[in-house]
Amino acid sequence: MPNLSYWEKESFFKNIDVAIIGSGIVGLSAAIHLKEYSPKLKVIVLERGSLPIGASTRNAGFACFGSLTELLDDLETQSEDEIFALVEKRWKGLERLRKRVGDQNLKYKPWGGFELFRNEDAESFEKCASQIDFFNKKIQTITGQKEVYKIADEKINQFGFQKIQHLIHNQAEGQIHTGEMMYALLQIARKKGIKIFNGIFVKKINDQGKDVKIETAEGWNLSVKKVLVATNGFAKTLIKSNKVIPARNQVIITKPIKNLPIQGCFHYDKGYVYFRNIDGRILLGGGRNLAKEEETTAEFGTTETIQKALKDLLKNVILPHHNFEIESIWSGILGVGNTKQPIVELMSENVVVSVRLGGMGVAIGSLVGEEGASLLKTIL
Ligand SMILES: Cc1cc2nc3c(=O)[nH]c(=O)nc-3n(C[C@H](O)[C@H](O)[C@H](O)COP(=O)(O)OP(=O)(O)OC[C@H]3O[C@@H](n4cnc5c(N)ncnc54)[C@H](O)[C@@H]3O)c2cc1C
Repeated sequence: MPNLSYWEKESFFKNIDVAIIGSGIVGLSAAIHLKEYSPKLKVIVLERGSLPIGASTRNAGFACFGSLTELLDDLETQSEDEIFALVEKRWKGLERLRKRVGDQNLKYKPWGGFELFRNEDAESFEKCASQIDFFNKKIQTITGQKEVYKIADEKINQFGFQKIQHLIHNQAEGQIHTGEMMYALLQIARKKGIKIFNGIFVKKINDQGKDVKIETAEGWNLSVKKVLVATNGFAKTLIKSNKVIPARNQVIITKPIKNLPIQGCFHYDKGYVYFRNIDGRILLGGGRNLAKEEETTAEFGTTETIQKALKDLLKNVILPHHNFEIESIWSGILGVGNTKQPIVELMSENVVVSVRLGGMGVAIGSLVGEEGASLLKTIL
């Protein structure tokens, strides 16, 4: 790659107040928030992909805040206050996203979510069932909705599932169209005068006190006042910390299926597997617990082990009465850690990080971006 010309430096990269690294939901939400706070700020976004290719354009589009098994699991390691504060953040993050982008643009569908329990999950189901009242009371204080979780076994036959003993319905979950969400966020950001540069891989950031030097893979050296790192599952390149662990998730989507009876978001195997309907198809993903070591990677790709498990699940449990064909497969990279709390902190005098979104980043992404931007505002 050639050096930057005088013209390129002058017109594209001069007097930058904030450079945000990563154009996923977090990076874009942070950029938009900063421009709303002060339209005069010169904000740029540096994205290594030709599209924002991480998790935000590759996820399942569940607008969710926690299934019962996940919340009960979390309560084993974190306090009640911490867990419900996180649930509230997810709920508020979704509200913010819906307000900013609009339900029509998001193609939001309030179809609810369901958790599936197999024979071997009997103990887990009994535990969840016995705690429904407790969770409903807690969730009501956050969402304002009564009896959010309900046992819905009567739906098993309607959906046509096999080998499933119980279903628990969550009426406050919804679906979004992931692609439309990101397309809309990019449009909003551009309309506000935020410049988004694609194809720029940031190799290094060096906080020099009076400014921050950014070194790109092209060998360009940019100088900006402040930096916000929003690279989630890929954070290790820039933040040299083991607090964010990459976790690959593989996804498959079928071709349209005639008279598909399935509608909603579905959580299976403690949330490790998820599926939904979209445009008459089934989108199914997850299963990284089946090959945890292999899937602890920031490399995109698919593997025989996970693909086979997902296809078997489609055939034997989800669509036992339908012929279906797989249309395409892909993967995305999550950023996880030893807790589900995101990291929003000052990494050095002029650098903020907003990372580790976990499995519900669509929900908390808007707020985590804004929290990062708010922290930046304190040092502007
Ligand atoms: C398969 C899958 C399914 C999911 N399903 C759901 C769901 O249904 N509901 C839900 O709430 N959440 C879901 N998630 C999680 C959610 O998608 C993520 O938590 C969220 O999108 C994270 O957003 P982000 O902006 O932090 O990261 P990302 O979207 O990963 O954005 C980071 C960006 O940084 C860029 N980047 C990385 N390194 C550099 C660098 N050095 N220089 C420049 N750019 C760089 C990347 O290219 C990327 O575009 C899912 C995730 C996956 C992978």
